[in-house]
Amino acid sequence: MTIGVFGGSFNPVHSGHMMLASYLTQWGYVDQVWLTLSPLNPMKDADELLPDTKRLAMLSIAAKGAESIDLCDIELSMPRPSYTIDTLNLLSERYPEHRFKLVIGSDNWQIFDRWRSAQEILDKYGVIVYLRPGYPVEKLHVDGLEVVDAPMAHVSSTFIRQAIAKGRNMNYFLPAGVYKYIVDNELYK
Ligand code: ATP
Repeated sequence: MTIGVFGGSFNPVHSGHMMLASYLTQWGYVDQVWLTLSPLNPMKDADELLPDTKRLAMLSIAAKGAESIDLCDIELSMPRPSYTIDTLNLLSERYPEHRFKLVIGSDNWQIFDRWRSAQEILDKYGVIVYLRPGYPVEKLHVDGLEVVDAPMAHVSSTFIRQAIAKGRNMNYFLPAGVYKYIVDNELYK
């Protein structure tokens, strides 16, 4: 199978992530999407980051209700900081029966040449870039690149955390079970 590796801090996973994953599988870009949890992104505010266990629990709830979408916790047991190339290499070592492709937004594609082993990722795995508003992809004909124009929901985890802190009902912005988990555990208040 071809697996799309879609990484993030998923703090929390939301409908925007799920819509994209669902699109990539159902429109035939990949057979499955693995939502791959990053332990800690040094660019993000660690205070706001829920523990790995809770973010993983939400991913697991989201994936349970979704066909062809799964979670992946491989980075949690890797030395930090973990680089995407190491994650992809380890995944293909562990699952030689699958082919892995990286999934990133066009905002990240604009700085992709600064990623560690960017060329190797393109050559060995391939990169699916989905268009994000305001971030066009200039050169479309790059070996290993596939550009996807998927319908987008303009939501982010930051927006959801802030809205929950203000007491808004975010029922329609998250997979139902994930929202219930947040409410039951009084997260992001
Ligand atoms: P935060 O607001 O905390 O920065 P986020 O919503 O951007 O979080 P991440 O966990 O960083 O979520 O996202 C994982 C990946 O999903 C990132 O590559 C991010 O660009 C992408 N992403 C975020 N929001 C959306 C969306 N609405 N639709 C599609 N992809 C998204």
